[in-house]
This record gives sequence, structure tokens and C-alpha cells, in this order.
Amino acid sequence: MTHNRRDFLKKAGLLAASGFVFTGTDGFNQPGNTISNNHKGSKKMELTYQEYELQLKHVFTIAKNSRTTTPDMQVRIHYNGYTGYGEAAMPPYYPENPESAKKFYEQLDLAQFKDPFEMEKILDYVDHVAPGNNFAKASIDIALHDLVGKLMGYPWYQIWGYDKTKTPSTSFTIGIDEPKTVKKKTREADRFNVLKVKLGGGNDKEMIHSVRSVAPEKPLYVDVNGGWKDKHEALDMIHWLKEKGIVFVEQPMPKDQTDDIAWLTENSPLPTIADESIQRISSVMDAYKVYDGINIKLMKCTGMREAHKMLNLARSLGMKVLMGCMVASSCSVTAAAQLSPAIDWADLDGNLLISNDPYEGVKVVDGKLILPERPGIGIRKIRD
Ligand code: MG
Repeated sequence: MTHNRRDFLKKAGLLAASGFVFTGTDGFNQPGNTISNNHKGSKKMELTYQEYELQLKHVFTIAKNSRTTTPDMQVRIHYNGYTGYGEAAMPPYYPENPESAKKFYEQLDLAQFKDPFEMEKILDYVDHVAPGNNFAKASIDIALHDLVGKLMGYPWYQIWGYDKTKTPSTSFTIGIDEPKTVKKKTREADRFNVLKVKLGGGNDKEMIHSVRSVAPEKPLYVDVNGGWKDKHEALDMIHWLKEKGIVFVEQPMPKDQTDDIAWLTENSPLPTIADESIQRISSVMDAYKVYDGINIKLMKCTGMREAHKMLNLARSLGMKVLMGCMVASSCSVTAAAQLSPAIDWADLDGNLLISNDPYEGVKVVDGKLILPERPGIGIRKIRD
């Protein structure tokens, strides 16, 4: 659809001169005062943030440990009576944590920018304040998108011109476990149209047999997390998986075995998708040489702006696109879902794994992602 930016600006009252002020604090510092001040027309942009512990519904087990919580930073940008929400979900096996995020937020000085619509300029600046910190950068990016979408009065899928009826189903992930547990989890995932099965733990065929005994027809995605080390064995397994109705194979081999992965992709009857091999847009061309597609995650790529660019680049190269997420609240998952009408496959189940989601946003109905109509990233606060 076509939008007239001047109309947006008029609608949002943004044609008047505006200024930004940044305030870093340990919590959401007096957001009430901030909002009332902004209502008076001060038009100052204020960033606040708060640590938040996501509670998992079930114990989450990966190769190295088990956990029942995930550290998280909730971010808000207040401007002219509007609030943009953002989030950095920080699983412990990534280098960032709430302390590093706070340190990053404290380095930001947004007072130099006069207009929140200058998103490229603002986010380029945020990106260059410090290297790394991709998750913290993503939280600012998401909050700014939420704010600007609200100022415009449109959700991002609409601003980008996507058809919301084109959202895919999301997969639900089944972790490596004993056959009894795998079958139980597969039964519990009955409402999902697609499952993503974790392989690479030495019991691959047993895993698939267990899932197939409960869900004989359901499409399955497979994520090996770099667990296969020999390309010939990997290819044999992929041929076997094709017979079992698997759709694609994610990160079949370790990311440093580039030549082996390229050979595998060349010979594989199923598409290969990069996950650990890809972070930001700068690694898309490298992935193009060795994979059929990429898994885009907002936290890894610094947010919606770069995810959108990666999606377009991958598409122009003829690559497949999967979108994934961390265990996270509906904030960053709904932000990711705004791009989902344009992707091939979604693995956006992170918000369904927690019991204290502060927001309501994207829903799963009959297995399919349903985008909210609300402007911005489309979330509504339901819990403090
Ligand atoms: Mg993966």
C-alpha cells in the first residue's frame, strides 16, 4: 500500500521541531512523569530499561545445561505521549547479558537526533556506538520501530506492504530426548501444523521414529545445530530424512566446515539452511556460497531494520528464508512476525515457552501465525 509521509507527520503532530533526550536508569524511571511532560509538547525522546526474568513453563535443556529462566531486558522509548516497546532476550549461551546491555544503553546519546523518523541515521549511530552488543542493539531497534509505527498509526507489516493473510504456520521445537519424552512432547504439540526436530545428538533415527509414531504425516523441519561431522554420513542421513517427509535441514555441520557444507548443499535432496553460520547482513553472501537459505533472528542481526534488509537480499539471491527467535516475550517475537508474510518458514515459538509474558501480540491459530491489527509491532501490555 502507499502512504503519504507528510500525512503521517501531520497526523502524528511531528512537523513541529522535536528533540531527543536520553536518560539511562536501572529501571523504568518515572515513565508517568515522562509521558505527562511529553503530553505538554516537550517532544523529547526518552529511553528507559528494566531487567526482567522470563519464567519458562518447562525446564529447557540444551547440550550443555538445563534452565528454568531466561534473562531479559525490557526497553521503552517514550516520545510525545507514545511509548515504543523493545526487548533483548539473552539466553546464557550467548555472550550478552543484562549487565552488558546496561553498559551499552549507558553509552547511548540520542539527544543529537531531532526526528524519530530518521530511523536509518539513528540506528546507524546505535550500531556504531560499540561493536557487538547485537541483542542490546536489537532492543533499541524494536522499540524505535514500535514508536514510529505508533506515530504513523500502522503496523509494520502494513508499512512494508505485506499481506497479513500470507503468514506461515510456526513450527514448534522438539528437543533431543528419550523416545518416551519425545512422543509425549509430540502429542502435546498437537495444535502445531509443523514441528522442528533437534538432531545431532547421536540418536537421529530414533528421534524421527518417535516423532513419526505420533505424527505420521506432519511436515518436519530438522535442526542439527552443527552436530554432523562427516559429510558423507550427513548426506546419507539427509537421503533417509527425505523419505521421512522432512522439509529442510538447518545447520547440518559445524560452521567452520565450509567446504563440507558447500558439498553437502550441492548434493543434498533437501534445502540446507544456515543458522550458526549467519549473524548479520554481512554474512549473507558467505552463506549464499554454501547454503540454500538462512535463518534470520532479530537478536543476532540487531533488529527489524537489518532483518528486513537481509530478507530482501536473500530473496534477490534466490535463497530460502526461515525466521527464528530466542526464548523471549511476545515483544520481540511479534516484532519478528511482522516480516513473516514474506518468509518461507517460521520458527517463532519463543513466547509460547514462557509463563510470565508481559505482552499480548502475535497469536497461533490452527498452527498459523496471526498478526495483530495494532500499530507499531502490535503488542499490548498485559502484565508489569
Ligand atoms: Mg537453529
